[in-house]
Amino acid sequence: MNKKEPLIYLQDKRVSKIKLTAADLKYPVPPRIKDVLKQEQKIVQVMPTIQQAPELYYACSKCGVIPPQWFLKKWYKRSCPCKAEERAQQERQEKLHAWLEWQRINCYGGWLGREHRDMNIVSQMISKTFNSFSTDSGDDENFRKALAYAQAEKPQGNFVLTGGYGTGKTHLGDAILNYRREHFHNTTLFASAPEFCGSYQDAKRSLDQTQFISIRQRVVQADILYLDDIDKEWRGEYKQPELHSIYYYIFDERYKARRPTIVSTNDLQNLEKYIGGAAKSRLMSLCTTVHMLGEDFRAMEVW
Ligand SMILES: [Zn+2]
Repeated sequence: MNKKEPLIYLQDKRVSKIKLTAADLKYPVPPRIKDVLKQEQKIVQVMPTIQQAPELYYACSKCGVIPPQWFLKKWYKRSCPCKAEERAQQERQEKLHAWLEWQRINCYGGWLGREHRDMNIVSQMISKTFNSFSTDSGDDENFRKALAYAQAEKPQGNFVLTGGYGTGKTHLGDAILNYRREHFHNTTLFASAPEFCGSYQDAKRSLDQTQFISIRQRVVQADILYLDDIDKEWRGEYKQPELHSIYYYIFDERYKARRPTIVSTNDLQNLEKYIGGAAKSRLMSLCTTVHMLGEDFRAMEVW
């Protein structure tokens, strides 16, 4: 070995000691890029005071004054968690508002196809609430309203409204649907039985089966379904056994999933004739039946 070389030690976090020879020192150790950036930042990174840049300071009643933050060579105004929560809350409200608007249209016709959408019908149907239900005729009316309200607050199986024409069946049924949607954000579907059967038949016949699949899925998956006038005469092509099998599919699937259904009928005694024995058994197995009496108030309605 030739002449002994002096050893120089350099401290480094990763390696405890690095031996450097005099030859190494001819080429100075390059400073790490991070260190250079840090030094540069130190020069400009002096936070302006609130007097110098009041627009960069945010004041919250709960969190106090929030100073600005340095980011990508610039000072930015910061907000606090309260502000972020407020913004998220507003966003959630807007989303819910849009969802409800769409659900109302979907509920009253939209789900059966584009041609069933009618904003006049929608606004008329959503106006049917417990508040707008008249109980002028007395205690019986109040009792029926209370039963419907209990169903709206906490559905206990199915709900059958029976009675003559114009006794307020549809109003109470709609009030339950509207309450479930607006207060509990349930998905709700309404259809008169003939309207439903017609759409079902048309969708089934169509070359494009998308609508048919959609109706079949929605009718069993909706949180709450209301089939109005289930005994109304059907003039379509379906023969009774076909109709009965459609109703059985609906009531059986919904029964298995414990999803409540509301049905209204003028002829409860002969329900089996309209929907079939098996479907009736599913519908009535866990069910509240409300008998509507009284005058036909439609005759008194002012147009
Ligand atoms: Zn705050």
